[in-house]
Amino acid sequence: MKARKVPLRKCVACQQMMPKKELIRVVKTPDDEVLIDLSGKKSGRGAYLCGKVSCFKLAQKNKSLDRALKHQVKPEIYEQLAQDFISVEDEFIAAKERDGDE
Ligand SMILES: [Zn+2]
Repeated sequence: MKARKVPLRKCVACQQMMPKKELIRVVKTPDDEVLIDLSGKKSGRGAYLCGKVSCFKLAQKNKSLDRALKHQVKPEIYEQLAQDFISVEDEFIAAKERDGDE
């Protein structure tokens, strides 16, 4: 058993530092698309949110996602992201629970 440093990232909505795997990454691609990146490997500017819809809503409300991505996220993109967020939330929670032994 080797001790590993857990990489911490900050949720852009609630400003809490969390282990990276507990956060959902939203990325702005070089093509100016804003999407959820569950793999965490897409290129572009990323922002992290807790895997909770409440944090997503907060980020939408106070535009912290726009600021983090340095990009104005259009309302329809927020709508799309909100839907994606809800659909990935279950998968995300399941993945977290599986993640015991890597
Ligand atoms: Zn949060």
